Parts: sequence; C-alpha cells; structure tokens
Amino acid sequence: FPVERIRNFSIIAHIDHGKSTLADRLLEITGAITKTQKNKQVLDKLQVERERGITVKAQTASLFYEYENQTYLLNLIDTPGHVDFSYEVSRSISACQGVLLIVDANQGIQAQTVANFYLAFEAQLTIIPVINKIDLKNADPERVENQIEKVFDIPKEECIRISAKLGTNVDQVLQEVVKRLPPPTFNREDPFKALVFDSNFDQYRGVIANVALFGGCLSKGDRIVSAHLGKSYEVNELGLLKPEELPMERLYAGQVGYVIAGMKEVKEAQIGDTLYHQKHPVEPLPGFKPAKAMVFAGMYPMDQSDYSTLRSAVEKLTLNDSSVTVQRDSSLALGAGWRLGFLGLLHMEVFNQRLEQEYNASVIVTAPTVPYKAILSSPRLIKHGREEITIVNPAQFPDRSLVKEYLEPMVMGTIISPDDYIGKIMSVCLNRRGIQKNMVYIDDHRVMMKYLFPLNEIVVDFYDHLKSMSSGYASFDYEDAGYQAADVIRMDILLNGKPVEELTTIVHRDRAYSAGKAMCERLQDAIPRQMFEIAVQAAIGSKVIARETIKAFRKNVLAKCYGGDITRKMKLLKKQAEGKKKMRYIGTVQVPKDAFINVLKRK
Ligand code: GDP
Ligand code: MG
Repeated sequence: FPVERIRNFSIIAHIDHGKSTLADRLLEITGAITKTQKNKQVLDKLQVERERGITVKAQTASLFYEYENQTYLLNLIDTPGHVDFSYEVSRSISACQGVLLIVDANQGIQAQTVANFYLAFEAQLTIIPVINKIDLKNADPERVENQIEKVFDIPKEECIRISAKLGTNVDQVLQEVVKRLPPPTFNREDPFKALVFDSNFDQYRGVIANVALFGGCLSKGDRIVSAHLGKSYEVNELGLLKPEELPMERLYAGQVGYVIAGMKEVKEAQIGDTLYHQKHPVEPLPGFKPAKAMVFAGMYPMDQSDYSTLRSAVEKLTLNDSSVTVQRDSSLALGAGWRLGFLGLLHMEVFNQRLEQEYNASVIVTAPTVPYKAILSSPRLIKHGREEITIVNPAQFPDRSLVKEYLEPMVMGTIISPDDYIGKIMSVCLNRRGIQKNMVYIDDHRVMMKYLFPLNEIVVDFYDHLKSMSSGYASFDYEDAGYQAADVIRMDILLNGKPVEELTTIVHRDRAYSAGKAMCERLQDAIPRQMFEIAVQAAIGSKVIARETIKAFRKNVLAKCYGGDITRKMKLLKKQAEGKKKMRYIGTVQVPKDAFINVLKRK
C-alpha cells in the first residue's frame, strides 16, 4: 500500500464529547462494521467501559476509504478522555500524524479538551477541530468556534460541524482527514523499525503488540529484536486491526497493526519500545515517559484463602495495564496483599471493577494515598549526602526525628466553568489549599482558571465536589507539577483502642484536627452498630485528637417491629445480610469493605 495514501490519526476530546460515537460512524461509512441501530461505542470492548460509558483502553482500527477514485488506508486510534488515562492518549498520539479534536457544540471547550489539545500540539500533529452534536437543541457551534479560535489560535473556518449521532457531515470528516493530514513520511526501503504503542495479553496467543511501522517492512517468519530487552523473536502472525485482527503476510512503513511473536509477558513488548530486524539494528525511537503512579492503595483479598486466585487475577490484569505498579504488601488485619499504584482514583476504581467483573475476585481496597517524599536527616541513614525516600504506605511514614523535610506532590489544575460560579469555585479551591495562577475568559461567560494544588487535596473527591457545586458545568483536569515542602504528619485511627494500620493517613498539620474529626464521624456512619460499643479515635502519636462512639446494637431493634411494619423488619434483615457479605473483621470489629475509601470523601 503506497505510503502517500496512508493517514494515521487519533480522535481526542473531553469525556462524553462523542469520540467513540464518531468512531462508530467512521467504521460504518468505511464498511468496517455493518450499519445497524446497535452500533454503540463499538471500540469500547471492556465491560467496565460499557457500564461506565467511558473508554479506558485506546483501540485501533484500520479503515479503507475511497476518495477521488483512490483507496486510502486510514488508521484510527480511539482514545480515552479522562485525565487518569491521558497516558493512553499520549501513547496513541505518538503513532499518528494528526488528530480530530472533538468539541461538544453545547458544552464547548472543557478542561480535558485543553489538555488533549496540548498533547497533540506539542507532538506537532495536524489538528482538525470538529464540532460535534450540532443536532442538539442547545447547540451553539458559532460560540464554540470562537472559543477554538481564541484558546487554540486555530482559524474558525477550519472547524467541521457534525452530528456523530445522526451521521451529519461525517463523510466530510474523512475527506478532510485525507486532504489535511500529511501521510507518514517513513520509507519502506529503510531498515524495519516499529514503535510498540500498546500491548495486550491473550491467554492462548501470548502478547499481542500494537505497532506503528516507522520504516521498512515486516513479514511473517522474520526475526525481530525488542530494543529494550535485546531479546529476539520470530514473527508468528501479523496484520491489521479492523478493529478485529486481520492477518496479513506483510506490514509496511507507515502502517499500524499487530504483531504476535511468541512473547510470553507484556514486559517483553514494553510500551514505547522499538522493534527491529535482528540483521539490521537501528537507533531506538525516543519512547515514552513511563506512566507515573499518583495514587497508592493497599489491595487485599476479602478472604485470605482467595489469595492465590486474586494473585493470578492481579497478574493478568496488570499484563494488560502496564501503568499499574505492583508491590507485595501485608497487613496485620488484612493479611497478605499488594500495594498498588494508579494514575488516579478513577483508574483505581476501574481496576477494582475489572478485577471483580472479569476475574470474579472480591477485594478490599484501603484508603488511597499520594506518594509523599521524605528527605532523611539521620546520619546513619545518609550515605551519599541527601537521601530521599518515597512514602507510598502511610503506615511506613518515617518518624519526624529521622526526617529533615517532607515533600508532597503538586499538580497544576485547569478548571473551565461558566463565570456565575467563579466565587464558589475560588472558595472551594482555597479550601483545598489551591493557589490561583491564572484566570482568562474563553468567551463572554466562561472562564479558564489555573490553580496549583497539593495532589492529596484533589485526588479523592474534588472533581465530584466541583461538579455538584457548579450544577455539572465545571470541568477539571490536572498535570504533574513536581514536589513542594509540606508540614505533614501521620494520623492513626483506633477502633476500641487498637490502631488500624489500614486507616492510617498522612495529613497536613494544620488540618489534623478537622481531618481526624471528619474521619471519626464518617467511620461512625460507615460502621454498623454491633453487639458492643465501639470507640473510634483519631490520634497523632499517642495523643488522641478526636473521638466518636458507635453505640451497641440494641437487641430489641427488631422486637420493636413485631406487630408493626413487617416490611421494615424484612428490610432490616436483608440489609444486615447484604452488609455481612461485604464486612471484614478488624480485631473484633466488623468494618464494611468500602469504608476504607469512603472515610476520605468529604461531604
Ligand atoms: P466519548 O466519551 O467522547 O467517547 O463519548 P461517546 O461517544 O461515548 O458519547 C457520549 C454521549 O454523547 C453518548 O450518550 C452519545 O450517544 C452522545 N452523542 C455522541 N455524539 C452525539 C451527537 O452528535 N449528537 C447527540 N445528540 N448526542 C451524541
Ligand atoms: Mg469513548
């Protein structure tokens, strides 16, 4: 296939602006899938993607498109829109020459639109702005085009107005892809060189690597080497993704496809790695920044007897999601488990849900924490001057006496909102220790604000909070902004006098009292009454700073219902039975498994 007739592109957008729906239409027009009423987010294959209506894993599809009597090969890569998965977006982009930047005609530019735009812009890709959902009653494409011109400096005449749902102007999108995007400039006469931009694990066939060929060609039976590990493999199968695999004899420079080469572990096809012919070594491609875990949590089987089943589920799932970091861990109350690192809270919840749905595993996840750092001062710990450790488990918080300075991770947040909410948003941000860096109007009524935040202040529930106080209109995205010195301390939670390691958190000194009180109150709500009274305490060192009491279960609670409302009694019994399934003993106290996360959510 001549390289001049290849186009590699990605669809990027804020969540829900219609990437996956547009992908469906593009697949239909090009005949990759048959047109039916039922094609909904065809590329979202995972159950969690279907249930949550979000894309988690980027998918690839090769489309054949007729334009002016020529057939073009268009490689489409659908990407997730959520901030936690922007790592997937930057990966997809590296295999492309251009992007379709989708913006909802009603909502306009949102925080992730901005973040995704910059990913594409910095990669020097051609950007085609597409205004979607023009069929909506409240659509205002004109206003959105002005925003695009103002914020991204793209002439508004370049925007294409479409309805992905109805298919309006979708054919024009494909024409513009052919016309505006440059073909890849790779040469098939060069030595073979391919970028691994994704990899999947299949139980029967091993690793399936998604590759973009940056030079040469690859045939079945070739011997290839992965630059990272230097191991060599024979190519057993290769082909295009349509989106299902279509085996071919050869792949050529500029194409995107899959390769199966007897790799047993995803580590062998590391994302960002370069593949080359054993006989013709090449300079490896620059690769990617490794994904950086922003949220850590302990994960334990509900029942220790499920440990090995869970272990194999975690292993399989991390094979397909290399952005999760895994360390073995154990706790007194919960037994053997792991400490896992995720890109964000949604990523953690999705991982959890996939474990439960795809592997039928039942897990307890402990309170998430961000990676703090400590610079140690104790002479016996200093070998090469300044020594720094990263704290991913609050229970291993090093004592003050050993530490010169604690550091906390910071992020630069982007908030876009109608200006009616500015006052409220500013006070919420202040309350989260945010520092305003910038504020601009992107049109008559909408502002874009930049705030520097400590990551721990926004990681759990900031987005939900922002959404609810702005009636759903504000959007939020953030990026890594390094570390800053912070006055943080360890806070323990005690149930009936016994410290519960799994509930230990790291808090700001100024916030210790309010955080301790809030945690005790939320635990009081989360833990059901039991046969005995339970004291819930928060402590700094040996000093108790807050306390709540969970009164003993009154045995006659049910008795009271006799003769009264029978349905209420049934409800109570049912609730108790359901609750029991998801309970975990800590000492003698039964704690519901979701309490560990919920205790961190502010009301
Ligand atoms: P993604 O998160 O960007 O992949 O967005 P989806 O493709 O999943 O779409 C989000 C929601 O918007 C779905 O409910 C779609 O049916 C809806 N949607 C997508 N495109 C259009 C459109 O052109 N018009 C209307 N009215 N709804 C659309
Ligand atoms: Mg999607």
